[in-house]
Amino acid sequence: MIVIDGKKTAQDIRAELAAEVSAATAAGRRAPGLAVILVGEDPASQVYVRNKEKGCAEAGIASFAYRLPADTKQQDLLQLIEECNSRPDVDGILLQLPLPKGLDAQACLLAIDPAKDVDGFHPENVGRLSLGLPGFVSCTPAGVMELLRRYNLSTRGKKAVVVGRSDIVGKPLALLLTRSGEFGDATVTICHSRTPDLAAECRSADFLFLAIGRPRLITGDMVRQGAVVIDVGINRTSDGLCGDADYESVSAKASAITPVPGGVGPMTIAMLLMNTVQSWRQRTA
Ligand code: NAD
Repeated sequence: MIVIDGKKTAQDIRAELAAEVSAATAAGRRAPGLAVILVGEDPASQVYVRNKEKGCAEAGIASFAYRLPADTKQQDLLQLIEECNSRPDVDGILLQLPLPKGLDAQACLLAIDPAKDVDGFHPENVGRLSLGLPGFVSCTPAGVMELLRRYNLSTRGKKAVVVGRSDIVGKPLALLLTRSGEFGDATVTICHSRTPDLAAECRSADFLFLAIGRPRLITGDMVRQGAVVIDVGINRTSDGLCGDADYESVSAKASAITPVPGGVGPMTIAMLLMNTVQSWRQRTA
Protein backbone atom coordinates (compact mmCIF):
# COMPACT_ATOMS: atom_id res chain seq x y z
CA MET A 1 0.00 0.00 0.00
CA ILE A 2 1.35 3.39 -1.02
CA VAL A 3 0.84 6.39 1.25
CA ILE A 4 0.84 9.37 -1.12
CA ASP A 5 3.06 12.04 0.42
CA GLY A 6 1.62 15.41 -0.56
CA LYS A 7 3.88 17.29 1.80
CA LYS A 8 7.03 15.94 0.16
CA THR A 9 5.58 16.36 -3.35
CA ALA A 10 4.65 19.98 -2.60
CA GLN A 11 8.20 20.60 -1.29
CA ASP A 12 9.64 19.12 -4.50
CA ILE A 13 7.43 21.42 -6.57
CA ARG A 14 8.45 24.48 -4.56
CA ALA A 15 12.12 23.55 -5.02
CA GLU A 16 11.66 23.07 -8.78
CA LEU A 17 9.93 26.45 -9.08
CA ALA A 18 12.60 28.14 -6.94
CA ALA A 19 15.34 26.74 -9.18
CA GLU A 20 13.60 27.98 -12.33
CA VAL A 21 12.93 31.41 -10.87
CA SER A 22 16.42 31.93 -9.47
CA ALA A 23 18.00 30.95 -12.80
CA ALA A 24 15.75 33.43 -14.60
CA THR A 25 16.34 36.29 -12.17
CA ALA A 26 20.11 35.64 -12.26
CA ALA A 27 19.84 36.10 -16.03
CA GLY A 28 18.16 39.47 -15.48
CA ARG A 29 14.47 38.61 -15.71
CA ARG A 30 12.08 40.00 -13.12
CA ALA A 31 10.70 37.62 -10.46
CA PRO A 32 7.12 36.35 -10.68
CA GLY A 33 4.61 38.36 -8.63
CA LEU A 34 1.43 37.38 -6.81
CA ALA A 35 -1.02 39.94 -5.41
CA VAL A 36 -2.76 38.59 -2.33
CA ILE A 37 -5.92 40.42 -1.28
CA LEU A 38 -7.41 39.75 2.14
CA VAL A 39 -10.50 41.64 3.27
CA GLY A 40 -11.49 41.48 6.94
CA GLU A 41 -10.16 39.46 9.87
CA ASP A 42 -11.42 35.92 9.37
CA PRO A 43 -8.85 33.88 11.39
CA ALA A 44 -8.80 30.88 9.01
CA SER A 45 -8.29 33.20 6.01
CA GLN A 46 -5.43 34.94 7.82
CA VAL A 47 -3.69 31.57 8.28
CA TYR A 48 -4.24 30.61 4.62
CA VAL A 49 -2.89 33.96 3.41
CA ARG A 50 0.19 33.71 5.64
CA ASN A 51 0.90 30.22 4.30
CA LYS A 52 0.50 31.40 0.72
CA GLU A 53 2.91 34.29 1.35
CA LYS A 54 5.40 31.87 2.93
CA GLY A 55 5.08 29.55 -0.07
CA CYS A 56 5.76 32.47 -2.41
CA ALA A 57 8.88 33.47 -0.49
CA GLU A 58 10.24 29.91 -0.66
CA ALA A 59 9.70 29.73 -4.41
CA GLY A 60 11.24 33.14 -5.10
CA ILE A 61 7.88 34.68 -6.00
CA ALA A 62 7.31 38.29 -4.89
CA SER A 63 4.02 38.58 -2.99
CA PHE A 64 2.20 41.87 -2.75
CA ALA A 65 -0.10 41.82 0.25
CA TYR A 66 -3.22 43.96 0.40
CA ARG A 67 -4.95 43.73 3.77
CA LEU A 68 -8.20 45.68 3.77
CA PRO A 69 -10.66 46.35 6.60
CA ALA A 70 -13.94 44.39 6.79
CA ASP A 71 -15.95 47.52 5.98
CA THR A 72 -14.21 48.02 2.62
CA LYS A 73 -16.60 49.25 -0.08
CA GLN A 74 -17.22 47.11 -3.13
CA GLN A 75 -16.13 49.99 -5.36
CA ASP A 76 -12.76 50.29 -3.60
CA LEU A 77 -12.13 46.55 -3.83
CA LEU A 78 -12.95 46.58 -7.54
CA GLN A 79 -10.59 49.49 -7.99
CA LEU A 80 -7.77 47.59 -6.27
CA ILE A 81 -8.41 44.56 -8.51
CA GLU A 82 -8.24 46.87 -11.53
CA GLU A 83 -4.91 48.24 -10.28
CA CYS A 84 -3.54 44.68 -9.92
CA ASN A 85 -4.84 43.81 -13.41
CA SER A 86 -2.75 46.60 -14.89
CA ARG A 87 0.41 46.23 -12.77
CA PRO A 88 3.09 44.71 -15.03
CA ASP A 89 4.90 43.08 -12.06
CA VAL A 90 1.77 41.17 -10.96
CA ASP A 91 1.32 37.81 -12.71
CA GLY A 92 -1.37 36.40 -10.46
CA ILE A 93 -4.18 37.82 -8.32
CA LEU A 94 -5.51 35.94 -5.36
CA LEU A 95 -8.66 37.20 -3.70
CA GLN A 96 -9.03 35.27 -0.45
CA LEU A 97 -12.60 34.03 0.07
CA PRO A 98 -15.00 34.23 1.79
CA LEU A 99 -15.45 38.01 1.65
CA PRO A 100 -17.14 39.82 4.56
CA LYS A 101 -20.90 40.38 4.34
CA GLY A 102 -21.93 43.17 1.97
CA LEU A 103 -19.26 42.41 -0.65
CA ASP A 104 -20.17 40.60 -3.86
CA ALA A 105 -17.56 37.85 -4.37
CA GLN A 106 -18.89 36.89 -7.80
CA ALA A 107 -18.57 40.46 -9.11
CA CYS A 108 -15.03 40.69 -7.72
CA LEU A 109 -13.96 37.37 -9.26
CA LEU A 110 -15.38 38.51 -12.60
CA ALA A 111 -13.29 41.69 -12.38
CA ILE A 112 -10.00 39.73 -12.19
CA ASP A 113 -8.17 39.55 -15.53
CA PRO A 114 -8.59 35.87 -16.57
CA ALA A 115 -4.90 35.86 -17.60
CA LYS A 116 -4.01 36.58 -13.92
CA ASP A 117 -6.70 34.37 -12.37
CA VAL A 118 -4.30 31.88 -10.77
CA ASP A 119 -7.12 30.44 -8.61
CA GLY A 120 -8.99 29.41 -11.76
CA PHE A 121 -12.34 30.71 -10.47
CA HIS A 122 -13.13 33.15 -13.31
CA PRO A 123 -15.97 31.85 -15.54
CA GLU A 124 -13.66 32.19 -18.54
CA ASN A 125 -11.18 29.73 -17.02
CA VAL A 126 -13.98 27.41 -15.87
CA GLY A 127 -15.32 27.49 -19.45
CA ARG A 128 -11.85 26.81 -20.84
CA LEU A 129 -11.54 23.79 -18.56
CA SER A 130 -14.87 22.41 -19.72
CA LEU A 131 -13.88 22.92 -23.38
CA GLY A 132 -10.44 21.37 -22.84
CA LEU A 133 -8.67 24.64 -23.72
CA PRO A 134 -5.55 25.87 -21.90
CA GLY A 135 -6.27 28.07 -18.89
CA PHE A 136 -5.88 28.17 -15.12
CA VAL A 137 -7.33 25.22 -13.23
CA SER A 138 -8.57 25.52 -9.66
CA CYS A 139 -5.62 24.69 -7.38
CA THR A 140 -7.02 21.78 -5.32
CA PRO A 141 -8.17 19.63 -8.27
CA ALA A 142 -4.97 20.61 -10.12
CA GLY A 143 -3.04 19.37 -7.06
CA VAL A 144 -4.90 16.05 -7.12
CA MET A 145 -4.00 15.55 -10.80
CA GLU A 146 -0.36 16.43 -10.08
CA LEU A 147 -0.23 13.76 -7.36
CA LEU A 148 -1.60 11.17 -9.81
CA ARG A 149 1.06 12.19 -12.36
CA ARG A 150 3.95 12.16 -9.91
CA TYR A 151 2.95 8.78 -8.45
CA ASN A 152 2.26 7.48 -11.96
CA LEU A 153 -1.27 6.41 -11.09
CA SER A 154 -2.85 6.30 -14.53
CA THR A 155 -6.62 6.70 -14.64
CA ARG A 156 -6.86 5.80 -18.33
CA GLY A 157 -9.78 3.44 -18.94
CA LYS A 158 -10.48 3.24 -15.19
CA LYS A 159 -13.70 3.80 -13.28
CA ALA A 160 -13.48 7.00 -11.20
CA VAL A 161 -16.00 8.12 -8.61
CA VAL A 162 -15.91 11.71 -7.35
CA VAL A 163 -17.95 12.31 -4.19
CA GLY A 164 -18.81 16.03 -3.96
CA ARG A 165 -19.97 18.40 -6.70
CA SER A 166 -18.60 21.77 -5.55
CA ASP A 167 -17.44 24.35 -8.08
CA ILE A 168 -13.94 24.48 -6.62
CA VAL A 169 -13.21 20.76 -6.14
CA GLY A 170 -15.68 18.06 -7.24
CA LYS A 171 -16.88 19.48 -10.55
CA PRO A 172 -13.50 20.60 -11.96
CA LEU A 173 -11.91 17.34 -10.79
CA ALA A 174 -14.53 15.32 -12.67
CA LEU A 175 -13.85 17.41 -15.81
CA LEU A 176 -10.09 16.87 -15.53
CA LEU A 177 -10.58 13.11 -15.18
CA THR A 178 -12.60 12.96 -18.39
CA ARG A 179 -9.97 14.83 -20.45
CA SER A 180 -7.97 12.63 -22.77
CA GLY A 181 -4.55 11.45 -21.63
CA GLU A 182 -2.80 9.04 -19.30
CA PHE A 183 -4.12 10.93 -16.26
CA GLY A 184 -7.59 11.41 -17.66
CA ASP A 185 -9.62 9.10 -19.88
CA ALA A 186 -11.55 7.84 -16.86
CA THR A 187 -15.21 6.90 -16.78
CA VAL A 188 -16.45 9.31 -14.14
CA THR A 189 -19.43 9.24 -11.80
CA ILE A 190 -20.16 12.31 -9.67
CA CYS A 191 -21.92 11.61 -6.37
CA HIS A 192 -23.43 14.13 -3.96
CA SER A 193 -25.73 14.47 -0.97
CA ARG A 194 -28.73 13.18 -2.96
CA THR A 195 -27.03 10.06 -4.35
CA PRO A 196 -29.27 7.16 -3.25
CA ASP A 197 -26.69 4.38 -2.70
CA LEU A 198 -23.35 6.06 -2.05
CA ALA A 199 -21.73 2.85 -0.78
CA ALA A 200 -22.50 0.95 -4.00
CA GLU A 201 -21.17 3.82 -6.14
CA CYS A 202 -17.97 4.03 -4.09
CA ARG A 203 -17.46 0.26 -4.32
CA SER A 204 -17.52 0.51 -8.12
CA ALA A 205 -14.49 2.85 -8.14
CA ASP A 206 -10.95 1.99 -9.19
CA PHE A 207 -10.19 5.60 -8.22
CA LEU A 208 -12.21 7.16 -5.42
CA PHE A 209 -12.00 10.93 -4.91
CA LEU A 210 -13.54 12.36 -1.75
CA ALA A 211 -14.44 16.07 -1.50
CA ILE A 212 -17.32 15.98 0.95
CA GLY A 213 -16.39 17.64 4.23
CA ARG A 214 -17.85 14.88 6.46
CA PRO A 215 -15.36 13.34 8.92
CA ARG A 216 -14.70 9.62 8.22
CA LEU A 217 -17.92 9.20 6.20
CA ILE A 218 -16.33 6.68 3.84
CA THR A 219 -15.44 3.41 5.55
CA GLY A 220 -13.48 0.37 4.38
CA ASP A 221 -16.63 -1.63 3.49
CA MET A 222 -17.46 1.07 0.90
CA VAL A 223 -14.12 0.69 -0.91
CA ARG A 224 -13.09 -1.85 -3.53
CA GLN A 225 -9.98 -3.94 -2.76
CA GLY A 226 -6.99 -2.24 -4.43
CA ALA A 227 -8.69 1.10 -5.14
CA VAL A 228 -6.74 4.37 -5.17
CA VAL A 229 -8.32 6.74 -2.63
CA ILE A 230 -7.67 10.49 -2.85
CA ASP A 231 -9.11 12.23 0.19
CA VAL A 232 -9.56 15.99 -0.28
CA GLY A 233 -11.61 16.44 2.89
CA ILE A 234 -10.19 18.48 5.75
CA ASN A 235 -12.35 18.16 8.85
CA ARG A 236 -11.66 19.56 12.29
CA THR A 237 -12.78 17.17 15.04
CA SER A 238 -12.19 17.05 18.78
CA ASP A 239 -9.32 14.61 18.15
CA GLY A 240 -7.65 16.70 15.45
CA LEU A 241 -7.80 16.93 11.65
CA CYS A 242 -9.22 14.06 9.63
CA GLY A 243 -10.34 13.36 6.11
CA ASP A 244 -13.60 12.15 4.61
CA ALA A 245 -12.22 8.59 4.69
CA ASP A 246 -11.96 6.50 7.81
CA TYR A 247 -8.21 6.13 7.31
CA GLU A 248 -7.71 2.91 9.23
CA SER A 249 -10.37 0.80 7.53
CA VAL A 250 -9.99 2.41 4.09
CA SER A 251 -6.19 2.10 3.98
CA ALA A 252 -6.57 -1.64 4.72
CA LYS A 253 -8.38 -1.95 1.36
CA ALA A 254 -6.67 0.70 -0.78
CA SER A 255 -3.58 0.22 -2.98
CA ALA A 256 -2.74 3.92 -2.51
CA ILE A 257 -4.19 6.62 -0.28
CA THR A 258 -3.61 10.26 0.65
CA PRO A 259 -3.42 10.88 4.41
CA VAL A 260 -5.04 13.89 6.11
CA PRO A 261 -3.13 16.01 6.94
CA GLY A 262 -0.17 15.74 4.56
CA GLY A 263 -1.96 14.52 1.44
CA VAL A 264 -3.88 16.81 -0.89
CA GLY A 265 -3.76 19.82 1.48
CA PRO A 266 -0.15 20.94 0.87
CA MET A 267 -0.62 20.53 -2.89
CA THR A 268 -3.15 23.36 -3.10
CA ILE A 269 -0.62 26.11 -2.33
CA ALA A 270 2.01 24.39 -4.48
CA MET A 271 -0.38 24.58 -7.43
CA LEU A 272 -1.11 28.25 -6.73
CA LEU A 273 2.63 28.88 -6.98
CA MET A 274 2.83 26.76 -10.12
CA ASN A 275 -0.03 28.69 -11.73
CA THR A 276 1.67 31.98 -10.84
CA VAL A 277 4.94 30.83 -12.40
CA GLN A 278 3.04 29.62 -15.48
CA SER A 279 1.48 33.08 -15.86
CA TRP A 280 4.89 34.71 -15.40
CA ARG A 281 6.44 32.44 -18.05
CA GLN A 282 3.77 33.50 -20.54
CA ARG A 283 4.04 37.17 -19.66
CA THR A 284 7.83 37.38 -19.74
CA ALA A 285 8.46 35.05 -22.69
P1 NAD B 1 -18.73 21.82 -0.34
O1 NAD B 1 -19.38 21.88 0.99
O2 NAD B 1 -18.83 22.97 -1.29
O3 NAD B 1 -19.23 20.53 -1.12
C1 NAD B 1 -19.41 19.30 -0.46
C2 NAD B 1 -20.04 18.32 -1.42
O4 NAD B 1 -20.24 17.10 -0.74
C3 NAD B 1 -21.40 18.78 -1.94
O5 NAD B 1 -21.40 18.70 -3.35
C4 NAD B 1 -22.39 17.79 -1.34
O6 NAD B 1 -23.42 17.43 -2.24
C5 NAD B 1 -21.52 16.60 -1.03
N1 NAD B 1 -22.02 15.89 0.16
C6 NAD B 1 -22.28 16.41 1.39
N2 NAD B 1 -22.74 15.44 2.21
C7 NAD B 1 -22.75 14.29 1.50
C8 NAD B 1 -23.12 12.96 1.79
N3 NAD B 1 -23.56 12.61 3.01
N4 NAD B 1 -23.01 12.04 0.82
C9 NAD B 1 -22.56 12.38 -0.42
N5 NAD B 1 -22.19 13.64 -0.74
C10 NAD B 1 -22.28 14.58 0.20
O7 NAD B 1 -17.20 21.47 -0.02
P2 NAD B 1 -15.84 21.68 -0.86
O8 NAD B 1 -15.48 23.11 -0.86
O9 NAD B 1 -15.88 20.92 -2.14
O10 NAD B 1 -14.85 20.92 0.15
C11 NAD B 1 -14.97 19.55 0.44
C12 NAD B 1 -13.95 19.16 1.48
O11 NAD B 1 -12.66 19.38 0.95
C13 NAD B 1 -14.00 19.96 2.77
O12 NAD B 1 -13.64 19.11 3.84
C14 NAD B 1 -12.95 21.01 2.58
O13 NAD B 1 -12.40 21.45 3.81
C15 NAD B 1 -11.94 20.26 1.78
N6 NAD B 1 -11.11 21.12 0.93
C16 NAD B 1 -9.78 20.90 0.96
C17 NAD B 1 -8.94 21.66 0.18
C18 NAD B 1 -7.48 21.39 0.22
O14 NAD B 1 -6.69 22.26 0.08
N7 NAD B 1 -7.08 20.16 0.37
C19 NAD B 1 -9.45 22.66 -0.64
C20 NAD B 1 -10.83 22.84 -0.69
C21 NAD B 1 -11.65 22.04 0.10
